[in-house]
Amino acid sequence: MITAYIALGSNLQNPEHQLRSAVTALAALPDSRLQQVSSVYRSAAVGPGAQPDYLNAVARLLTTLPPETLLDALQRQEQAQGRTRNIRWQARTLDLDILLYGSAIIETERLTIPHGALGRRNFVLYPLLQVCPANFVLPDGTDLDTLVRDCPVGDLEKTGLQLHDN
Ligand code: ATP
Ligand code: CA
Ligand code: CA
Repeated sequence: MITAYIALGSNLQNPEHQLRSAVTALAALPDSRLQQVSSVYRSAAVGPGAQPDYLNAVARLLTTLPPETLLDALQRQEQAQGRTRNIRWQARTLDLDILLYGSAIIETERLTIPHGALGRRNFVLYPLLQVCPANFVLPDGTDLDTLVRDCPVGDLEKTGLQLHDN
């Protein structure tokens, strides 16, 4: 089994409900086991125009699905939850990104793993830190602790919401 880390995000149509549905879907993925889900974090949107706040979380998944198959399943779930794709970084009901897939480094048309923005997004790094082993090192040798230390917490707020019985 490979340990994969999945970022969840929503800022439309009851984001808490969207994240809960996504976690239910992650728990039902074939050849996979959902192990842990971080707290839910709230932050202001950074995309174009005025947008509602985001809720974000990170899940730790054990899986034998190949990365592209996992992406297919995640994109199907985004579709099932009403995701539309028009303008980049526009408000969305659900975004599911593969942050890490074991120690793999992948660069294909469809996939960049580790996720390209992982190291500079507080709403990814802080929840990721919660569900990673201590002293976690990324595939390129960077310490997660160092990335978190260098990434300002800004307006990121840890909510009391829990999505999974960890
Ligand atoms: P960002 O990538 O900056 O977080 P986004 O999540 O809004 O932006 P999307 O519109 O959801 O971007 O996805 C665009 C494309 O990114 C997808 O069609 C997918 O093929 C590609 N992609 C590349 N790497 C990954 C990854 N690690 N996880 C999910 N999608 C990825
Ligand atoms: Ca994203
Ligand atoms: Ca995405």
